[in-house]
Amino acid sequence: MAGLAFCPALWNITAMAASIHQFLIGNDNYGILIHDEASGATATIDAGEAAPILVALKQTGWTLTDIWVTHHHGDHVAGIPELKAATGAKVTAPLADKDRVPLVDHGVKEGDSVTLGSTRAAIIETPGHTANHIAYYCADDGLLFAGDTLFSLGCGRLFEGTPAQMWSSLQKLRALPAATKLYCGHEYTQSNARFALTVDPENAALKQRAREIDALRAKGAFTLPSTIGAENAENPFLRADDPLIAARLGMAGASPVDVFTELRARKNRA
Ligand code: ZN
Ligand code: FE
Repeated sequence: MAGLAFCPALWNITAMAASIHQFLIGNDNYGILIHDEASGATATIDAGEAAPILVALKQTGWTLTDIWVTHHHGDHVAGIPELKAATGAKVTAPLADKDRVPLVDHGVKEGDSVTLGSTRAAIIETPGHTANHIAYYCADDGLLFAGDTLFSLGCGRLFEGTPAQMWSSLQKLRALPAATKLYCGHEYTQSNARFALTVDPENAALKQRAREIDALRAKGAFTLPSTIGAENAENPFLRADDPLIAARLGMAGASPVDVFTELRARKNRA
């Protein structure tokens, strides 16, 4: 792979049929390209800005065929018109957001799947951050593109959904196989780790992870992808039904939704 020689930190190749190229767009939005080796098809997960995605395509030598949109926020869709004009890529987005995402070709909902050559992604509806947010899950390659629903050690803010909806969405994602690689819309892990330690201060795995994250960020490296297994052990937002977290919040016996609501409220104030 020629790219390895010039920019090792930007490369993250899976051992399966699909390769991933992860890069930053602006301060903290992640750009992600997924490339199907057999067919040469390539998708970008969201498209907040066209220019950095076009640069990434040039660096990889990959040809964009698809834009897979997780939700309608500008930092995820603003680059679509320019990118589509430049590449002719086909836009897949939540069916219910067809009027809020530019130039949608293919609307999808829970249970649908999309293909990129031989690579297949299942659509998982994950309302909460927005009403119609979706995640893309490639079971064969063990990849989850969670957008702004699940972050490493955190979760998205509730702009359009209720805590009960978000908690239900997170329960779907945490049930995926532990080895699943988690890709997210933003690099928020370090601030999420600081908050997670305030509600789960004696979690040895979390403390170790926080140290690793600080070391990665100190050298400007990415903290993602994470894994579903690591998140289940370390992310307090996936553990709203864990009596230990409830007790830490002074909410022993409270419902998971109430615990989740309190976690999200504390994070918003942090
Ligand atoms: Zn968003
Ligand atoms: Fe975002």
